[in-house]
Amino acid sequence: MIFENYQRLRNSIPEYVDLVVAAKQRLVKEIEEVINAGAQIIGENYLQETQELYNALGKKAKALKWHMIGHLQRNKVKQAVEIFDMIQTVDSLRIAQEINKRCSEIKKLMPVLVEINSAREAQKTGLIPEEALDFIKEISTLPFLKIMGIMTMGPRFGNPEKARSYFIKTKRVFEELNSLSLPNVVPRILSMGMTNTFRVAIEEGSNMVRIGQAIFQAG
Ligand SMILES: *Cc1c(COP(=O)(O)O)cnc(C)c1O
Repeated sequence: MIFENYQRLRNSIPEYVDLVVAAKQRLVKEIEEVINAGAQIIGENYLQETQELYNALGKKAKALKWHMIGHLQRNKVKQAVEIFDMIQTVDSLRIAQEINKRCSEIKKLMPVLVEINSAREAQKTGLIPEEALDFIKEISTLPFLKIMGIMTMGPRFGNPEKARSYFIKTKRVFEELNSLSLPNVVPRILSMGMTNTFRVAIEEGSNMVRIGQAIFQAG
């Protein structure tokens, strides 16, 4: 089922759109099935779960790309920068500086996305769109960060059309970022769209979707 779900999904979205498998709280054998179906990028919300999965997968883990898509705590950054190939959730100067510091220690250039709370949901993390460009200018001086674009969640449930205006707003920030040409900023990735919203997100310019339910759930 997971195998077919993944392949159906992969074939239904355009080739230029990267598909991140949102793996939180899934079993190792479920992840193995999705890897067998061709998955290449695993998105994780929790460091410890990532480490456990990484170890359980053995050799296969090294062939994958690992993206942090959950909120990152400062005291987890040291370990996070070792395992992740991209951190999609940078939303504060404190966390950006900590990533820079820990990456400088291991001489690793870390690709990151800046997270925007496009719907201004109070419980969610991320910067409001108006703050994003100044924030990116500020962190673009950190030499061990490579700022590759923007991530947003948008409303997760309900009518996906409700998410459209937030994706449009996020795309606008992405385009403004493109026009700035800042150091350490290579804005190529616009990460938006989940199970409920990925079609709308792609219509509005997303080139990376993060999907869990549509892959792992029956039906
Ligand atoms: C869980 C999660 C997703 C995937 O959501 P689904 O509704 O399961 O597709 C995407 N992005 C983030 C940040 C998540 O935590």
